[in-house]
Amino acid sequence: MAFNITRRKFLQSASLAAVALPLSGALASESGITRSPLEPKGSLQDETVVGGVCEMCFWRCQLVGKTRGDRLVKLEGNPKSIDNGSAICARGNAGIQLLYDPDRLKYPLKNVGERGKPKWKRISWEEALDECGSKLKAVQDKYGPQGLCMFPHGSTAKYPMHFMERTLGTHNVSEASFFQCRGIRDMAYMATMGMPPGEFVDMPNAKVIFLLGGHFGENIHVSHIKQYIQGLQNGAKLIVVDPRYSASAAKSDIWVKIKPGTDTAFLLAIMNYLVSKNKYDAEFVEEYGQGFDEFKEGIKDWSLEKAAKECDIPAAQIKEVADMLAANAPNVSIHPGRHVSWYGNDFQRQRSLACLTGLLGAYFVKGGWVPGKEPKVGKTSWAKKEHDGEHNLNLNADEESIYPYSPPGTPTELIRDAALTGKPYPIKGCVIWGQNPIQTIPGQEKMKEVLQQMDFVMCVDVMPTDATMWADILLPEVSYLERHDLVKTGTQWNFADKHQQYITARMPLVAPMFERKDQVYITNEIARRMGYEKDIPVQTVEELVEKDLSVANLTLAQLKQEGGIHLREGKDPYQMPEDFEILFFNEDIADAGFPGVPTYIPVEQGPAGYARLLYGRVPVHTFNRTQNNIWLNKAMPDNPVWLNDQAAAKMGLKDGDVVGFINQDGIKSRTTTVVKTTPGIRADSVYMAHGYGSANPLMSVGVDAGVDDTSLITKITVDPETGAHGMRNNFVKLTRDGKIIDIPAAV
Ligand code: SF4
Repeated sequence: MAFNITRRKFLQSASLAAVALPLSGALASESGITRSPLEPKGSLQDETVVGGVCEMCFWRCQLVGKTRGDRLVKLEGNPKSIDNGSAICARGNAGIQLLYDPDRLKYPLKNVGERGKPKWKRISWEEALDECGSKLKAVQDKYGPQGLCMFPHGSTAKYPMHFMERTLGTHNVSEASFFQCRGIRDMAYMATMGMPPGEFVDMPNAKVIFLLGGHFGENIHVSHIKQYIQGLQNGAKLIVVDPRYSASAAKSDIWVKIKPGTDTAFLLAIMNYLVSKNKYDAEFVEEYGQGFDEFKEGIKDWSLEKAAKECDIPAAQIKEVADMLAANAPNVSIHPGRHVSWYGNDFQRQRSLACLTGLLGAYFVKGGWVPGKEPKVGKTSWAKKEHDGEHNLNLNADEESIYPYSPPGTPTELIRDAALTGKPYPIKGCVIWGQNPIQTIPGQEKMKEVLQQMDFVMCVDVMPTDATMWADILLPEVSYLERHDLVKTGTQWNFADKHQQYITARMPLVAPMFERKDQVYITNEIARRMGYEKDIPVQTVEELVEKDLSVANLTLAQLKQEGGIHLREGKDPYQMPEDFEILFFNEDIADAGFPGVPTYIPVEQGPAGYARLLYGRVPVHTFNRTQNNIWLNKAMPDNPVWLNDQAAAKMGLKDGDVVGFINQDGIKSRTTTVVKTTPGIRADSVYMAHGYGSANPLMSVGVDAGVDDTSLITKITVDPETGAHGMRNNFVKLTRDGKIIDIPAAV
């Protein structure tokens, strides 16, 4: 833990970190495919290809590629970008090692072994598509469309997902980005101020940046980090609430070392203090607020002292945070967060954040929450057909929603429970597209049982993952560097100068290799085989992109000519919409049987000798997706477990000791990692980076590297309003040399 890096040095180094990081490593593979594109060596006489859009994470930075012959030799940010500019992060730079990874899926494969213990046989596309079409159709004929489910992720999964939902007619689609990540945030803000919040905070103009669990610096999205750094350079104060001394906490003015799960109590005490001391924006609340009296009444018991006890932090610190926010309002960036599926009480916490932003008058003002107003483009896809009886698992016998604030799709547990019990109906066909439900969704063994009972499982991916081991048919997809894909829009975020919008589209930087295909080809060919030829909306992915661009009077050729990005004049982002309102008390939530005023719901504490398992991100990996990338693996090959230094001393552990884990249900980790002792984590918690510990032997770099945190999340918690998962309610002890070591709670 670099406690001694000064804020000034951090700002300098962070600015550099946001720029492309060249990582060395030219390794030849046994298969004869060269991992490194930098051969033959010699001076670079490269051609620049425009139109790339990164997909090493979901942020979609705009790229240019340097090619030599038919080889891509370097990736850079597109200098025309008003988003990431010429900067890309380490993962973006290492995309080239995904492209040329010899472990990548190359041909359609059929599993002639068992699910989970596959033996792969190369087959032709014709045979693979025939099998996918006939097996999915057989499930549809026998069980109805509701007998099919899908776990999609990423931009290419949208087209097949719409085929499944709109044309085939199954509701049983569960996106990890909603049900294990940001869905709760979006639904809570929509229920409070009518819009999903994105990460739209005007940090460059903020006087205070408030992060609840956000760990910028470990979690890197280039333009967002640039805005954050710009805000800090402009003098913004930083408040970080986190049980762990994260990269952000290390740069903060106030670090609130909160007890995990109690964040809502902390927020309620701040809001009650602001209201009772008349330190809130009464004029803003009067103009835009609804249900303020009920809100005031509902939070009145949350004194600073009560919250201090619950959150295990000083009352004076809660007051200090509240006073800092009030003194700088309305120019405060209350960050809405992204991955917020934490404790199963998360909808109420996200509502609290949205209400706090309102109390401070921090919507549509400089430094506050300000949505980028983006240009309109098309959304070409499959048309919705009429279906008999829609079999929505999220409706009970009285046709009422079980999870009334569910994000789009169906909550994962409803799908898995139906699949395992056959009630209210069987689910026997599964499409996994770009998602890794084995390492994304809590209850790994449950997920395996779900897949095991299917009549048919097909996977489409770029790389082998732990999920692809469960496929009957495995199809190789072209990577983001080899395909046309989405149309991406955005705005220029330093609103101080001028307002600009951009439109770009993902275009290939190199031609696809081997027999990899794109999402439109694969979906259309399966649809044809299932009898949906006449419903096919486009014949090629280029046609899809052209149609979407045409809504903005653009073409791919024009975009190319303009350097890959079209710029236009933007709209005033600070202009408040006419019908804007903040529901401090939401009557609909109350009518549905949930607290209409943000309410703290305590979470279960762990048994003695166990610590709460927390997880998060690192700057050089995007969860499991990048684990096999040889450059990124070199940068961070495993995920050390953070252990409180005093607790570690009592346990007889020191930095570098090799340990495993056992959780409260007796589940042991399959692999081990090393200890990192630090005063920067509470004694009641341990922390590790998410996404490590892959079990797939086809990942020659990432297999068995570090520990799979998801394998230890066996107790399943579900947020009652949304049906999304809470994933931080599991507890672990450490193991060493076969012995189990208790973790002392108090040090
Ligand atoms: S933040 Fe990094 S990995 Fe994500 S899109 Fe941008 S360059 Fe790619």
